[in-house]
Amino acid sequence: MLKQARPRFDPANIPDDLCAIGTELITMLPGDWRSERPIVDRDKCVKCATCWLLCPVQCVVEMPAWFDISYDSCKGCGICATECPQGAIAMIIETED
Ligand code: SF4
Ligand code: SF4
Repeated sequence: MLKQARPRFDPANIPDDLCAIGTELITMLPGDWRSERPIVDRDKCVKCATCWLLCPVQCVVEMPAWFDISYDSCKGCGICATECPQGAIAMIIETED
C-alpha cells in the first residue's frame, strides 16, 4: 500500500485571526504568570541555605542576614516553603499590582 505524502506546513496560509501567542515571539518570565509567591520571614531565617539549594530555578539570593527571593524568575512552585526547616517561608496568593 502506498503512503500518502503529508501536507507540508505553509506559513503563507496562517489565518489572520489566530491568537498572537501562536504567531509572535513573546518573552515572559515566571514572575509574569506565577499564581503564588514565597515570602521569607527574616526573623525566622537562620541562613541554612536549604531553599537556595533546592530551588529549581535558582532564584533564591543570599542577603547579609537571610535568604530572599528574586521574584522575576521565581515560578511559585513552593518547594522552598515546603522544605525550609524553620518554617520561615510562606506562600501567598499572587495578586495583580
Ligand atoms: S530554608 Fe528557610 S531558614 Fe534556610 S535559608 Fe531558606 S528561608 Fe532561611
Ligand atoms: S517558590 Fe519555587 S521557584 Fe520560587 S523561590 Fe521557592 S523554590 Fe524557587
